[in-house]
Amino acid sequence: MASDNIEKVIIIGSGPAGWTAAIYAARANLDPLIFAGRPKSQPTTILPGGQLMMTTEVENYPGFPDGVTGPKLMSYFEQQAARFNTRIVTDNGLHPDVSNPDDGHSYSYHDCQRVDLSVKPFVVIGEDDKEYRAHTVIIATGATANWIGLENEKRLAASGGGVSACAVCDGALPVFRDKELAVVGGGDSAVEEATYLTKFASKVYLIHRRDQLRASKIMAQRAMDNPKMEIVWNKVVVDVLGDDMISGIKLKDTVTGEESTQTVGGLFMAIGHTPATEFLQGQLDLDDKKYIKLDDSYRSTTSVDGVFAAGDVVDSVYRQAITAAGMGCKAALDAERWLADKGIE
Ligand code: NAP
Repeated sequence: MASDNIEKVIIIGSGPAGWTAAIYAARANLDPLIFAGRPKSQPTTILPGGQLMMTTEVENYPGFPDGVTGPKLMSYFEQQAARFNTRIVTDNGLHPDVSNPDDGHSYSYHDCQRVDLSVKPFVVIGEDDKEYRAHTVIIATGATANWIGLENEKRLAASGGGVSACAVCDGALPVFRDKELAVVGGGDSAVEEATYLTKFASKVYLIHRRDQLRASKIMAQRAMDNPKMEIVWNKVVVDVLGDDMISGIKLKDTVTGEESTQTVGGLFMAIGHTPATEFLQGQLDLDDKKYIKLDDSYRSTTSVDGVFAAGDVVDSVYRQAITAAGMGCKAALDAERWLADKGIE
């Protein structure tokens, strides 16, 4: 904390970007305070740990040659931030002690409800309307993958039953090798992820609700030319079949209403993401898809001086843990320089 109960930096969000910002800010003696968010069962601004908490095996995060589960990786991020005394807003006050997150915490992390970025120092409002003030704020609230919302889709995604919203994260896992897989969506992500999956799968069905892809022409053409890909036009998934592991999907034709079943060994949703920016209530410039706009794409600066943003909340393209972590680092360094320029110790 700087002085007069004003924090030097408040970080909102606890995915790879948020925890990395915390590690850098803490090591720079900025004594960061982090809002890590509530579990996803409750309506929240922040999903604690971010999207990796929904991932099973992570094989592409450098430094883990044997892979690591998403939740484990995030607990390592968190322990590293705690090691340098990052303070976490919780039910029981501010906790730096997360030495053994595997045991589960005996306290709940707090969500950030809203912010007032029109005043300086900034105001960050936590649960029960408790106000915190800060000279700088780093927003790393991420973006959540959109799901169709089917009961069995949610169940199998949560249990590692072959349903995922990230082909790049999960597609290369042995469980999907040489299987027939399905990707839902018609945008660039769907085409890109389906194309990626053709490296491992015996066949990939790209299931799209219309008769035309939204993806860029070149990517769409590449998909159509791929001998391992079959585009299934005018179909939506209306159920996911299988007990512990997906065995197939039930489809409905959007033109005729006819229902059919397709056997698949994996289902990947690529129907867009929703950035967690609603709590900002228009106080920062957003792009047309509601991602935070950076005023310099090389840095983490936003439309409000002293407010920095990092991770998937600014990135609709790469959306990787490693890119988010890199942006979290940049945001902490930018905040540190901002404070130094203003002479705030
Ligand atoms: P997107 O462009 O919004 O596409 C989402 C797709 O999902 C659309 O085809 C949409 O169908 C479909 N969809 C949405 N809700 C659905 C539902 N409930 N059931 C079935 N289908 C549904 O999202 P995106 O593909 O993630 O791309 C996001 C942005 O990132 C875009 O600007 C994209 O260009 C960019 N991006 C670029 C690259 C690249 O250049 N390499 C790669 C990935 C993403 P409709 O078409 O019918 O609306």
